[in-house]
Amino acid sequence: AGKVSIKGAIFMQELSARTRQLAFASMRRFADLVADEPDAIFLTIGQPHFPTPAHIAEAAKRAIDEGFTSYTPNRGILPLREAASAYYERFTGYRYDPGSEVLVTVGTTHAIDIAMRALLEPGDEVVIPAPAYPGYEGAVRLAHGTPVFVDTRSTGFLLTPDALREAITPRTKLLILASPANPTGSVYSEQQLSDLASVCVERDLYVLSDEIYAELQFAGSPVSISQMPGMRERTLVLHGLSKSHSMTGWRIGFAFAPAPIAAEMAKAAQFSVSCPSSISQMAALEALTRGQEDSRPMREAYRANRDLAVRALRDMQVPVEAPSGAFYVFPALPKALGMTSDAFCEALAREAHVALVSGMCFTSYGEGYVRISLACSEQTLREALARMANFVERRRQH
Ligand code: PLP
Repeated sequence: AGKVSIKGAIFMQELSARTRQLAFASMRRFADLVADEPDAIFLTIGQPHFPTPAHIAEAAKRAIDEGFTSYTPNRGILPLREAASAYYERFTGYRYDPGSEVLVTVGTTHAIDIAMRALLEPGDEVVIPAPAYPGYEGAVRLAHGTPVFVDTRSTGFLLTPDALREAITPRTKLLILASPANPTGSVYSEQQLSDLASVCVERDLYVLSDEIYAELQFAGSPVSISQMPGMRERTLVLHGLSKSHSMTGWRIGFAFAPAPIAAEMAKAAQFSVSCPSSISQMAALEALTRGQEDSRPMREAYRANRDLAVRALRDMQVPVEAPSGAFYVFPALPKALGMTSDAFCEALAREAHVALVSGMCFTSYGEGYVRISLACSEQTLREALARMANFVERRRQH
């Protein structure tokens, strides 16, 4: 099965079983169906529709003009690690040492990758609440680990301590937790984090806390599981600027981890990417020092879109939990439609020219759901929801 044919020649050496077992996680599948339709609406990928704030772009231009275009330390430039540490201190109240506990990475994606490489031995199990962001499974498998998905559909898309306990085996090494989460927008309360933390301490698990959407939490201040008793030394906190500062293409993320783990991650970073772009690092420094309020208007826009979408979906009698953060809604398809997530997305794309992401992109526990991105203008969202309402109405009459 792993034989390769290149220009008619058959090569008998097999390609890596690890990449071959991965499916390409295409968020664009249904977008491609309507790519040529002039009135198509794409509510697919998790990409802010705002431009990167101008002062951040200016900092990058200055970096180029001033010739700041060479390799940097593997962990990122020290002033940026200091700024990241100070920035994150606002959330947790404690400081990660910029010298030994902070890494600048090529997006949060890269931080997830090097965290897995640093932590996992072949066959180690990683508990992942699902529906889940597809990046986790890929990184776990590439690092020879085994993802163990836990169904959270009946518990408000939140992992419970009981469900965590049930998923743990002697091979379990790590729990991945995201709050706010993609695709569900669910957010853990302090009590819920504290209860999960007790299980992690009791069963000696590491935790990867993906906090990339922390600034986009709609109510209350973000709480990190790393703040719970006994957790700082077993938690790897990941952050990034893609969502908070509309910087997806700049590829900047951060990892905060206990020094011995950070050191292993730095090795993995050295041999995979060397360092993040020097130009992007100067932009990131600007974002973290003078752009601390940049995410506020974006958060307000996503919140308004969330309210609009939840109201419209409920008017359509489409069951939906109001998300508490990030920029997605993840409604359940009404049973009366008798459609799978893929079938719904395909028909909606073909008939209404609205592209969504099928719940199946987020493991099979996403079956029966679709993800709608709220990272668009209010006007675009209104139009998409109106078309979806018509579509659902017609299908109900079938
Ligand atoms: N984590 C979550 C939960 C995400 O939704 C995403 C992007 O969609 C990422 C991580 C990766 O972000 P980036 O690599 O752009 O920082």
